[in-house]
Amino acid sequence: MKNFIELALAALLLMSPSQVSAAPAARHTPAVKLYTLDCGRIDIADMDAFADDGSYKGVSGQMVVPCYLIRSAKGDLLWDTGIGDQFYGPRGVTLLPGYVAHVPVKLRDQLKRLGLNFTSIEYLAFSHEHVDHIGNANAFSHAIWLLNRREHRWTIAHDGHDGQPPKLLAASTRARVRYIDGNYDVFGDGTVTIIQAPGHTPGHQVLLVKPTGQQPVLIAGDLWHSRSNYAHNRVPRINWSRTATLQSFRKVRAIAKQEHARILIEHAPEDFHPGLYGEQRAANVGQSGPPQTSLERRRGVAHPITEAEPESCPQIQCSRGSFKQAVANAH
Ligand SMILES: [Zn+2]
Repeated sequence: MKNFIELALAALLLMSPSQVSAAPAARHTPAVKLYTLDCGRIDIADMDAFADDGSYKGVSGQMVVPCYLIRSAKGDLLWDTGIGDQFYGPRGVTLLPGYVAHVPVKLRDQLKRLGLNFTSIEYLAFSHEHVDHIGNANAFSHAIWLLNRREHRWTIAHDGHDGQPPKLLAASTRARVRYIDGNYDVFGDGTVTIIQAPGHTPGHQVLLVKPTGQQPVLIAGDLWHSRSNYAHNRVPRINWSRTATLQSFRKVRAIAKQEHARILIEHAPEDFHPGLYGEQRAANVGQSGPPQTSLERRRGVAHPITEAEPESCPQIQCSRGSFKQAVANAH
């Protein structure tokens, strides 16, 4: 299996950025709008898992959790579904040991303010199937699910990446599903393209969006978890493959450069601006702004770099607490 993965990655590297990025937009493409929605945040007691060089050992941090809505005359796509409206409330809820989730505003209410509801979204896709990206997925059984085949198989085979049951994606059995094996042009006009970027998980992917009249955006999922990790090319020790992660770093940076796209790091407070892309201040659909703290400000003393290579099933992914219990705690 490892040889197959290395061969596949080598093939990807041999492709030019133009082969792996979006096709040129058609002459008369419909207007595309991108909205950032507030799908919660997570307080983390010890960020050590997010760098395999020990940089964050003993350092607490907070991650924002956005969802992204892409509106087009050809349909609406929701990219990632956040922590889950079941966690809504004034108090934080322990999602996993050391991880406290906050959902200050429901996704349902944010969609309502845009004249939408769960059943009116046509397409659903995920950067990957970690618990904080699939929380509301089951509310979208009417949508067409664009599932990464490799990622979904991994989730099923390992009973979820974080110890949570694949139950969080149970509606996929009732929904129409299109399995993705490579890059995928969602609307067929080059405006919204899913791009493979494995490493954090086996089927991790990023999203290239070309909002009409705006600079293109590359929504990077968990390829990087913070601006600091982006700046220093740090690889979380929880990642599925260090080698694949580093290759995806290079690949996505190259595509962003070629497309003149701004990279958005989903969990980075600095990149979190709820509302309509390009007009966030005027059309703020989220009720809360970026948190006051960021990983960068909380960082402690730097530690020496080590060469750890978590390749298969990192302990933190295979043995963490039960998400089922966390859902129970929320009620
Ligand atoms: Zn993740």
